[in-house]
Amino acid sequence: MQNVLETNNLSKKYGSHLVLSGITMKVPKGAIYGLVGRNGAGKTTLMRVICGLQEVSSGSYELYGVKNTDKGIYKVRSRMGAVIEKPAIYSNLTAAGNLRAQYEMLGLPKDDASISELLALVGLTGSGSKKAGKFSLGMKQRLGIAIALAGFPDFLVLDEPINGLDPEGIVEIRELLIKLNKEKGITVLISSHILSELSLLATHYGFVDKGKIVKQISAQELHSQLRKCMIAQVSSIKALTMVLEDMHTEYVVVDDSTVKIFDKMSVTLLSEKLSAQGCELLSLTESDESLESYFIDLIAGGAHND
Ligand code: ATP
Repeated sequence: MQNVLETNNLSKKYGSHLVLSGITMKVPKGAIYGLVGRNGAGKTTLMRVICGLQEVSSGSYELYGVKNTDKGIYKVRSRMGAVIEKPAIYSNLTAAGNLRAQYEMLGLPKDDASISELLALVGLTGSGSKKAGKFSLGMKQRLGIAIALAGFPDFLVLDEPINGLDPEGIVEIRELLIKLNKEKGITVLISSHILSELSLLATHYGFVDKGKIVKQISAQELHSQLRKCMIAQVSSIKALTMVLEDMHTEYVVVDDSTVKIFDKMSVTLLSEKLSAQGCELLSLTESDESLESYFIDLIAGGAHND
């Protein structure tokens, strides 16, 4: 499969501060690639670099197979649209006015039909004569995406597009991105702190920590690794692990009173065996391991960090 973006050992320094360190990642064509990382991990910097807003310090990247140092990179960049940090919007212009201004800036013909098409695509047809300054945050974000789509690029880079949105706004952006991806074939690189939301969209993930990609994984692979388990809390972890060993059960010790059990088992049997060891079963709950816990484990160098 062709990759829209490939980075190769890409690093970025601000002064002596190494913000990105040896980033090697691949964004396949047609993917919704979720960039996951804590505040300050380097996600925005990575996006700024691949959008040409910052120079790389070392290493390289390719967009549609064109290296960042090749002359052709400027041309190929027109296939890319981005909203990084805040959408760049003129508050005193309407949605259509903002798109006209963007068309002018890009030297594109101000074609009313394509402006209407873009407004319809992002669900802003009804915004009419309302000035963008009066838009809700969700409308502003959708206008930002429409502006990024001026010229109809096929690679969209979005930095935290759902930050600060209400639940309705979040759903609108989600539906928009799925539509752009599925119906228009647009590849999306998106960062978000809201992992539960990202998990409803992403086809691939890149986990970033302290300027490094600690793991790249497809959503399919990830979901097969996120397993259902039972979380048991007991009065004696020693007794519990002994019983679980005896039952040949797969488990992971979480802390000094809690264990994750991955095999199905009879609660009565477990409780009886523990009781025989003088250990009390304080609670037993079913859990779907979430993307959040996977991420936390990964960053902590936990079980999945292979
Ligand atoms: P957040 O979600 O908080 O924006 P992030 O993962 O996007 O986090 P970046 O904004 O890329 O992280 O910042 C990564 C590191 O680089 C931070 O330590 C930040 O202080 C530093 N940094 C970012 N931009 C600059 C700059 N222009 N000059 C110096 N340091 C910078």
